[in-house]
Amino acid sequence: MRKISRIVVLLLIGLLATCYYIFVVELCIFTVQLLEAKVTFLVIFHLLFLLCVWCYLRTVMTPPDVPPEKFRPSESDKQLYLSDERPQVLQEILIHAAKDLPIYTKDPKGDVRYCTTCQMLKPDRCHHCPVCNICILKLDHHCLFLNNCVGFSNYKFFLLAVMYGVLLCIFTSAVSLYCSILFWTDQLPNSSSKVPIIVLFCLTTIFAIMLFQLFLYHFKLALRNITDREDSDNTEEFNPYNLGFSKNLREVFGNEKKYWFLPIFNSLGDGFSFPMGEATEDIEKNAAFAKPPNEGI
Ligand SMILES: [Zn+2]
Ligand SMILES: [Zn+2]
Repeated sequence: MRKISRIVVLLLIGLLATCYYIFVVELCIFTVQLLEAKVTFLVIFHLLFLLCVWCYLRTVMTPPDVPPEKFRPSESDKQLYLSDERPQVLQEILIHAAKDLPIYTKDPKGDVRYCTTCQMLKPDRCHHCPVCNICILKLDHHCLFLNNCVGFSNYKFFLLAVMYGVLLCIFTSAVSLYCSILFWTDQLPNSSSKVPIIVLFCLTTIFAIMLFQLFLYHFKLALRNITDREDSDNTEEFNPYNLGFSKNLREVFGNEKKYWFLPIFNSLGDGFSFPMGEATEDIEKNAAFAKPPNEGI
């Protein structure tokens, strides 16, 4: 899986480099005649390109956050856990080990979650990634195109990379469509750049549609403060983290507006304890919660 992922990342970089070459050299330098248009196209393109690549690299290179050491049970608790097989007893050992930890949401059976691979108690919204083989805080999904997990540490970078990717593709697609029309209507002389520009239009249009759908899906999740993993687990009706659109977005993008559109980490919180919203009052009645939501947050 890791090897396939590396190949996919290399293919993606190759494709990006080809599109870059066609737009900058074939379209802007060889085809567009007007100097003002050349400069405008190049400036807008490079601004979006740099922002997109910066966010993408930050998403790929930011290691996922793992649970802090305090979520590792003591050696005595671990020995007790290994010495028994009865589910009821095992759960009691875990509840005892988790007594001073900020764990409020349990699995559907109301049990404290434990990862036998990492030998850690799982904090709220933490899941084990089978590809990375570690527990990841606020795991969203493991992404093949990033060769990395998207979670608490890099979710903001991921959303921004997709958003700038959409804008870059729409801009490139629109400019290459304009040039393609000029070629077809003989307003531009036939040249060797014609075919690459039409190919560029097709590629960027396909990417724009795909990335826009991806962005829309993830933006809606961020608005509801729910991860892809939680969404696919069908826990929608038990979403205690929904604080309202504005607070939900601030949890990902931070409080300082000047950093909202830059890949600088300022997501709120620590990744293992989360403020809970109004829905908690109802959910509290459900067995999923053992402690009152305000206690210890
Ligand atoms: Zn794990
Ligand atoms: Zn992973």
